[in-house]
Amino acid sequence: MPKPLRYAQALRYNRQIVLPQIDLEGQERWQQARVLVIGVGGLGCSAAQQLCSTGIGHLTLIDNDVVETTNLPRQNLFASHQVGMHKVHAARDRLHAINPECTIQVVASKADTPLLDSQVPTHDIVLDCTDNLQSRNLINELCYKHKIPLVSGAAIRFEGQLMLIDPAQCSACYTCLSQLIKQTDLSCTEAGIFAPVVNLIGLQQAHIALMRLIDRSPTQAGLLHTYDGQTMQWTHFTIPSYQHCPVCQGNNNESA
Ligand SMILES: [Zn+2]
Repeated sequence: MPKPLRYAQALRYNRQIVLPQIDLEGQERWQQARVLVIGVGGLGCSAAQQLCSTGIGHLTLIDNDVVETTNLPRQNLFASHQVGMHKVHAARDRLHAINPECTIQVVASKADTPLLDSQVPTHDIVLDCTDNLQSRNLINELCYKHKIPLVSGAAIRFEGQLMLIDPAQCSACYTCLSQLIKQTDLSCTEAGIFAPVVNLIGLQQAHIALMRLIDRSPTQAGLLHTYDGQTMQWTHFTIPSYQHCPVCQGNNNESA
């Protein structure tokens, strides 16, 4: 049973609570929720800011990088004077100023197997905001192992993609997606990135996570959404589960 909101909190979140799809109950569930954001670059900054201001009770941020000048055009939690700081520490300062009632836990380490194995199962939902295939595959594998829903996001140049992966629904996973559509391992350093596109995808990851937490997901699990920032067109593809997927089909077979 979620803890009731205090009067000041009900006032703060009033414009959300008046929405019948959210209501007091939804806001209280957000207050109790624990969300893990892996990667505090363009996607992670945008997603974490929205999750924190909307009223998520606990956020954990994992990233090993420091703020660089080239991050500043799109990574909106950081300021010029924070160049050289660990991203998670700079982000925590800004998020605390936005909403001091959100508990922010930070881990300034690489998201490797032991760390994710301990962190993933203690959260209600995970946002993959990383920028490389190795991390995405590992996060996918551990979310499936611990049966925690995952909102996967990626952006490069003018292109973005999003997918909710839900082990509880045995949905297709990131490995299934990679099997069908080759995923690029180009970094934004090599290929470039248009700031509004990466911020839009990060915001959409927060949107999906918030609504999934109150059982009103705006998207089906296993549905891939791609965005073209040059034409502002969204395209949607149903990703089938890959029959021999070692991640999602392996676990299903074990539990069958
Ligand atoms: Zn799979």
